[in-house]
Amino acid sequence: MTNILSGRDTAQHVIKTNLAPRVAALKAKGVTPKLVVVLIGDHAASASYVRQKEKYAVKCAMESEVRRFDESVTEAEVLGELEAINADDTIHGVIVQLPVPKHISVPKVLSTIAPHKDVDGFHAENIGKLVQGEPCLQCCTPKGIMTMLRESGTELSGANAVVVGRSNIVGKPIAALLLNANATVTTCHSRTRNLVMHTKMADVLVIAVGRPQMINADHVKEGAVVIDVGIHRMEDGKLCGDVDFESVKDIVKLITPVPGGVGPMTVVSLIENTIEAAEKSVT
Ligand code: NDP
Repeated sequence: MTNILSGRDTAQHVIKTNLAPRVAALKAKGVTPKLVVVLIGDHAASASYVRQKEKYAVKCAMESEVRRFDESVTEAEVLGELEAINADDTIHGVIVQLPVPKHISVPKVLSTIAPHKDVDGFHAENIGKLVQGEPCLQCCTPKGIMTMLRESGTELSGANAVVVGRSNIVGKPIAALLLNANATVTTCHSRTRNLVMHTKMADVLVIAVGRPQMINADHVKEGAVVIDVGIHRMEDGKLCGDVDFESVKDIVKLITPVPGGVGPMTVVSLIENTIEAAEKSVT
């Protein structure tokens, strides 16, 4: 029996059983969910992420459009474009691919996107609702992790969940979602004393640190479920995560690979959010 928790396979399953039928139902009502990605500048990694998003939109028979801007675009022009997108009823979701050039304020960009079209789930209104356990457009990586845990049948109620990392886009929201699912949650960060003591307690361990292979066999409990959010390109060109996969894989119950783990689920969650936003627009 494999103990690999494949995001790629889970993504295919979710598309087939959940997302594609929802898109078909919307189309039957005359609505095609549409995502717009605003891409600024010439960032190779961003361009690759955007291609992934377009690929998944096509798989779900949705519409997607990339609006490209030169690095020199002004903040006012970007905000003006977002206002226009907010007012366009044919567009259900919009994201601004990060990072953006330094002269553009990320908080201003995020707060200009209408909360009901904020399919990245970064607007303060959506984050507030996520923490309160209210329906909202949830940040994509945490939402994708929760979908994977649910699809794998991982019991969260009463489980010890340990999150390493406290970023606004991964660590904090996944900790809130795990808490809302009745896990007992510990969040660790760079000032945590004795990290191993905490990670060893975890039934569910989520690592979002941004340090290649920092978590190894010494950090994990036998039978744990390990979710590796990190993604890094090594010198030999291969990708790896924040977890030393080879050292951990034979100890744990389930582990997400890199690549093919959290990454595809993040993109699927973006697509799901766009469908959710389109569904809201017709009710
Ligand atoms: P950030 O850099 O924003 O946050 C990293 C967190 O790790 C911080 O909270 C930091 O603590 C903590 N940290 C750093 N060093 C240590 C340490 N030695 N021990 C314990 N905690 C530590 O990263 P992100 O959350 O944005 O991303 C994390 C990783 O996930 C990156 O590799 C990123 O590329 C990847 N990622 C992947 C996604 C996907 O879809 N697959 C999506 C988003 C991110 P402190 O707050 O104290 O500084």
